Amino acid sequence: CGIFGIVGHPEASNLTYLGLHALQHRGQESAGIVASDGHSLQAHREMGLVADIFTAPVLEKLPGGAAIGHVRYSTAGGSQLKNAQPLSVEYVGGHMAVAHNGNLVNAQELRTALEADGAIFQSDADTEVVVHFIARSKQPTFEQKAVEALSKVKGAYSILFLTENKLVAVRDPYGFRPLVLGKLKNSWVLASETTALDLIEAEFIRELEAGEMVVIDETGLHSSQPFQPTRLGRCIFEHVYFAKPDSVLFGTSVYETRKELGRQLAKEQPAPGADLVIAVPDSGVPAAIGYAQESGIPYDVGLIRSHYVGRTFIEPQQSIRHFGVKLKLSAVRQVLKGKRVVVVDDSIVRGTTSRKIVKMLKAAGAVEVHLRISSPPTQWPCYYGIDTPSRQELIASSHSVEEIARYVTADTLGYISLDGLGTAVGDRERTTFCTACFSGKYLTGELNNASAPSTE
Ligand code: 5GP
Ligand code: SF4
Ligand code: MG
Repeated sequence: CGIFGIVGHPEASNLTYLGLHALQHRGQESAGIVASDGHSLQAHREMGLVADIFTAPVLEKLPGGAAIGHVRYSTAGGSQLKNAQPLSVEYVGGHMAVAHNGNLVNAQELRTALEADGAIFQSDADTEVVVHFIARSKQPTFEQKAVEALSKVKGAYSILFLTENKLVAVRDPYGFRPLVLGKLKNSWVLASETTALDLIEAEFIRELEAGEMVVIDETGLHSSQPFQPTRLGRCIFEHVYFAKPDSVLFGTSVYETRKELGRQLAKEQPAPGADLVIAVPDSGVPAAIGYAQESGIPYDVGLIRSHYVGRTFIEPQQSIRHFGVKLKLSAVRQVLKGKRVVVVDDSIVRGTTSRKIVKMLKAAGAVEVHLRISSPPTQWPCYYGIDTPSRQELIASSHSVEEIARYVTADTLGYISLDGLGTAVGDRERTTFCTACFSGKYLTGELNNASAPSTE
């Protein structure tokens, strides 16, 4: 998911609209904006894309100097309007709205306990437990209520809260998901990625620290570290795939990191004798360029991506996802005919996309297809906010690299190593990133046994 917030600007909801537009790659199922005029909150949430939802008349109904917004793709909770965010409620303390990126690993158990105590839930979203805990908190200030609520949850949260007169931003102690702070003249901006700041011409100030809480109200910006510190667990897959290449993420350029992944991949998994390197667009492009640079094999465009379909993987239904590959990619015969081709992609999940792509390349005349992947085999599901399928559906959880190569019908298949990935993202000590989907090392320890929660 993607989140955006701004305080102290007369056009808060218009700017939130723009910010969400820049973050659309982080979720395309639903979008929402909640704005505050200092007295009450107005909300609008709908299924679909930001540009389709937020027309001028809709934005006019979201007045005020502060707003938060959310773009969603489902990890916990189904793809339905009731799960669209920001959530907004009225409770004893007034109004609050919440926009959450990440996934809480103990939400189900907390929810069961709350329900047993009479709580009524409006959505399936894991985020709603936080709202309940805030409403029940006896702490005097909103931020203290939020700290108390968040102390009960475990997992990944980059989260924005909006009340009538405050914006509160928090990043979980592992720092799984990104969150950055920016400034636009006299207003403060928060966003999942720097690309949203760039669009609205806000200045990038800094990334929020893992475990940091920032409160912005009429007295200014206040930062604190209210949680028990722990090791960092920034999501390495944000660099591999999820974030937009023009963003600066966890202190480094996503584009440069992806190119470096491609260079490292070329060192570890060369393809001697190949005629050209192509990318699976868009996600494989920077790594393919890096691979070409390092190997000296020319880069060319062998696959064209349609701009009229979204990210196939994010389509929640398997049937749509399946069909999506052909809608999304087409092969350029003139480039591929008679060629030994290296094709670079960022990841293999189920293997269905890769299989279709290899077949497509061969049908277009490629005589050899050497598939190179800029992340290690995806063997474990993510419980921290990336929608990977169950372990059984991950082809690398039960198949060797040779077996996967055979399944996708590639002449050769090579993945970057986990160590190479660590090097490319600049994780020198190998202790500042989460790598669980590749390594099986879940940082929230309770997932390291069979009791892992199920994701939808
Ligand atoms: P597969 O056919 O192997 O299941 O899908 C692999 C493709 O899915 C890659 O091209 C990758 O870019 C794309 N992809 C899209 N979203 C995700 C995601 O959330 N996780 C992973 N691992 N891959 C994704
Ligand atoms: Fe990111 Fe993978 Fe960790 Fe999930 S398990 S947070 S996708 S690195
Ligand atoms: Mg892709």
